[in-house]
Amino acid sequence: MLKQDPTDHQENLLNGYPPLKLVNRKTENEQTIVQVAGVKFGGVDIVVIAGPCSIENKEQLWAIGNSVKNSGARILRGGVYKPRTSPYSFQGLQDDGLKLLSWIRNEIGLPVVTEVMDPRKLELVCQHADMIQIGSRNMHNTPLLNEVGQIRKPVLLKRGMSATIDELLFAAEYIVKLGNNQVVLCERGIRTFETFTRFTLDISAIPLLKRLCHLPVIVDPSHGSGHWWMVPWLSKAAVAAGADGLIIEVHHDPAKALCDGGQSLLPEKFQTLMTDLKALAQVMGRKISTSEN
Ligand code: PEP
Ligand code: MN
Repeated sequence: MLKQDPTDHQENLLNGYPPLKLVNRKTENEQTIVQVAGVKFGGVDIVVIAGPCSIENKEQLWAIGNSVKNSGARILRGGVYKPRTSPYSFQGLQDDGLKLLSWIRNEIGLPVVTEVMDPRKLELVCQHADMIQIGSRNMHNTPLLNEVGQIRKPVLLKRGMSATIDELLFAAEYIVKLGNNQVVLCERGIRTFETFTRFTLDISAIPLLKRLCHLPVIVDPSHGSGHWWMVPWLSKAAVAAGADGLIIEVHHDPAKALCDGGQSLLPEKFQTLMTDLKALAQVMGRKISTSEN
C-alpha cells in the first residue's frame, strides 16, 4: 500500500472509500499501459494526439493530418459527431465523417480517435476508429460507459466539466468493471467562476489522478482554455505536472473552422510546441513518443 496520510482526505480513496475496486492505485509502481495501434500511453513516453476539432472535408483533413504527423503527433483526432451547445451549430459530418476517418488513417498511417455520444453508433465507429472518445458531456452517461466497457478498443475518457475527481474515477471504474481496462483519463478543464477562459484547466488533477489511479492521464489544453495562444503554455504546464500525453486541436485555417477555431493552433505553432516539448520532456526524465520507439 502507499503510505497513508490521515490528514489527506483523498487518501480515503486508497482506503476503499469511495469503494473503487479496480482503477485505484494499490502500489507505487502499478501502472496500466494503454496501447492504441502500438502507441503506448502510461510509460516513459509522452503521447501527443492532435488534429482538427471536427472533420470538415477531405482537403481540410488531409492538410491538417499530414502537418500534425510531420510535427510528431502519434494519433490523429477528428470529431464527426459533435456535441454542440446550439442545435443550429455544425453538428459534425456524422456517419459520412467516419469514411473520411478511415481514409486518412490508411493514407497517413496514424491511428485515429473520435468521439461517440450515442451507444447505438458504437459498433459502427469501432469499424473506423482506433480509440473511442467519451466526451465531457457524456462522462456521466452510464449506458454509454457500460457499452464501451464491453468492447475491446481503448477508450479516452474525458472529465466531465463539472465532475469531481472521484466521479471521473468512478466513470472509469464502470468501464474497467466490464472488462475493458484500456482507459486513458483526460483532464480538459472544469467550470469555475472565471469566464475569460472557456474552462479552468485543473493542473492539480494530473498529480492527483496519477496518485490515486493507475490509468494513464492526458490533458486537453485546447478545451481547457478556449484560447489558442494559451495552448503552448498549458501544454508545458501539463507535461511539467506529470501528464502522460496531450490532445491538441490544430487547424490550418482557424478563422474558417466550423468548430473551435479560436482554440486551434496553426500547424507551424504546433510544430514549435512539439520542439519545445521535446526539451521539457527530457528535463522531466521522459520523452515525447516517436514512431522510432
Ligand atoms: C472534443 O474533444 O472535441 C470535445 C468536444 O471535448 P470535450 O468533450 O472535452 O468538450
Ligand atoms: Mn473542440
